[in-house]
Amino acid sequence: MAAAYLDKLNEQQRSAVEFGIADGAAGPACGPLLIIAGAGSGKTNTLAHRVAHLIVNGADPRRILLMTFSRRAASEMANRVERICKRVLGDNSAVLTDALAWAGTFHGIGARLLRIYSEQIGLTADFTIHDREDSADLMNLARHELGLSKTESRFPTKATCLSIYSRAVNSETPLSEVLRNHYPWVAGWEEQLRRLFAAYVEAKQAQNVLDYDDLLLYWAQMVSDPDLADDIGGRFDHVLVDEYQDTNRLQASVLMALKPGGRGLTVVGDDAQSIYSFRAASVRNILDFPAHFSPVADVITLDRNYRSTQPILAAANGVIDMARERYTKNLWTDRQSAERPKLVTVRDEAGQAGYIVEQVLANREVGIALKQQAVLFRTSSHSGPLEVELTRRNIPFVKFGGLKFLDSAHVKDMLAVLRFAQNPRDRVAGFRLMQMLPGIGPQTAGRILDAIAADPEPLAALAEIPAPPRSGDDWPRFVAVLEGLRTGGDGWPAEIARARLWYEPHLDRIHEDAETRKADLLQLEQIAAGYPSRERFLTELTLDPPQATSDQAGVPLLDEDYLILSTIHSAKGQEWRAVFMLNVVDGCMPSDLGTGSSAEIEEERRLLYVGMTRARDSLALITPQRFFTHGQNPQGDRHVYAARSRFIPATLLQFFEAANWPVVSAVAGERSARQIRVDVAARMRTMWT
Ligand code: ATP
Ligand code: MG
Repeated sequence: MAAAYLDKLNEQQRSAVEFGIADGAAGPACGPLLIIAGAGSGKTNTLAHRVAHLIVNGADPRRILLMTFSRRAASEMANRVERICKRVLGDNSAVLTDALAWAGTFHGIGARLLRIYSEQIGLTADFTIHDREDSADLMNLARHELGLSKTESRFPTKATCLSIYSRAVNSETPLSEVLRNHYPWVAGWEEQLRRLFAAYVEAKQAQNVLDYDDLLLYWAQMVSDPDLADDIGGRFDHVLVDEYQDTNRLQASVLMALKPGGRGLTVVGDDAQSIYSFRAASVRNILDFPAHFSPVADVITLDRNYRSTQPILAAANGVIDMARERYTKNLWTDRQSAERPKLVTVRDEAGQAGYIVEQVLANREVGIALKQQAVLFRTSSHSGPLEVELTRRNIPFVKFGGLKFLDSAHVKDMLAVLRFAQNPRDRVAGFRLMQMLPGIGPQTAGRILDAIAADPEPLAALAEIPAPPRSGDDWPRFVAVLEGLRTGGDGWPAEIARARLWYEPHLDRIHEDAETRKADLLQLEQIAAGYPSRERFLTELTLDPPQATSDQAGVPLLDEDYLILSTIHSAKGQEWRAVFMLNVVDGCMPSDLGTGSSAEIEEERRLLYVGMTRARDSLALITPQRFFTHGQNPQGDRHVYAARSRFIPATLLQFFEAANWPVVSAVAGERSARQIRVDVAARMRTMWT
């Protein structure tokens, strides 16, 4: 009997959904399947239907592993699957109680598996995870300890060192090759870098901390053991991956080890949307998939686009047609429209902001809610002038891919307290805390951390350490708060209040705007309440920080309408009725930083394609004649005159001039730009509460 949810799918989608699933029997027997197709062809939708179809036909949802590129994408997919299943199986189906427990990102799933198997691989289960900034700090500590930053005056920065390390790990490429291909200007330091990375790795192991790359590395290591691989692979009957074009070598090797023969494996992607090569993603993963599993792999392509109108699709195809290499074919749509995408020339970024605001409001007048509209940009800093203008006009917005709530110093301080309590060998967290205490400099902090790390009970050892001179009352208070967290009397999440009470006096001492920061900390407590344990809270927040206000557990801007601002990278997989793209000029798209090699230029082209294909009904590409280079220009920040992006297929667009659009500075009685910036910051903060 055909299920009603299948009727809406086209023939190719349906064959992908039903692939290998006999009526009522969704065994793990089906071979590897690749769905490769262009933007908006229903790949994600098809994948969700496939998961639902598996469950409806008897697959155990607890034995399905679903990996997407963000936690948000995973939870959206899980909701969709649940809705379909409920319709078929009824609301109370026992199958659904644990629906899709294993949906998440590669890193998130890796962290969970590592905690389960920690003993077998020589980790202790209370390991903490470093985000990029913490990792860079640890790299820096290692640099100092080796004396590299002193003796080698132009040694690469901690961030560059980390990028080099990370690229080598994720692409499984020897250091010398990484340096030659991507960092030729630091190739002279290969020997020192080798020593540095060895010290970095040793430090992580000694401190029981993992960085992002380790989650994949340890996972790969784990499944290289045949017994463990069997055991882990055996947990899952079906493994499905969306956005496969943005996985890296390491992720692919983990996947291949989980399902060596490819049974039960489904991957989905679009080579034309591969935009993460700076994180060592390799489009080869998707292109080589059929050959890897030859002759058993099946490949299904989809050729109909359901998202965009014909003129939008034509313009997007016009961009990607010029690509050097491409596997997926152009799509067709039956969504006719007389409106071609706009190419709007404005005088400068203020004009750009003014134009967008007018259009967004006009769209709202004709019934397109703010939430149905998005402004996309290459780099987070590009939306600054627009944020100012939106704030001035009282238009609510949410920004994806740029909100730095978790990166602010006070939030990181608070998280460091919890992390240090979790794992007192975590040196980056330890340093961060101790240096807040008066009378304790880096050397003393280092000595104390060394002393306690050697003890099997480091926090108990901390209590035995005599108060350092000049540390006054602060030392016993510090010891007491950690003792409280260690013994766990308050329980989770109440213990976070204890940490906050300890921290607040330090805030008062360091920051003038302590009151707003305290509000952030209360906010953090609310977020924490949404997690079952300290460990889950720290892990998930570090791995996949909330990208925007609406991601916040418990504090969504649910029924309020707001405009979406997003980097193109963070807009992956999404769609809006109206899309505006900022700074579609040479220097920005392609970015000056991305024109070093033809491979980089190709990636910039794909980025524009990803952005344009987010639009359903209307698309405007905006080209300011003058724009400000935010730290991208070798000459520093300055205005440059810009030409429209070389990728634009001019004949497929309609041209507009909006050179004299009203701008902020032309408004009588304006508040000063500086005041507006302060207001923007305050507004961003109120959006957290
Ligand atoms: P992207 O490459 O951007 O990730 P995608 O291929 O994953 O896109 P989806 O996001 O799954 O595409 O689908 C794009 C849009 O088309 C969605 O609004 C979806 O609901 C709609 N859609 C997909 N398949 C069908 C169908 N058979 N009938 C009607 N609408 C469909
Ligand atoms: Mg998709």
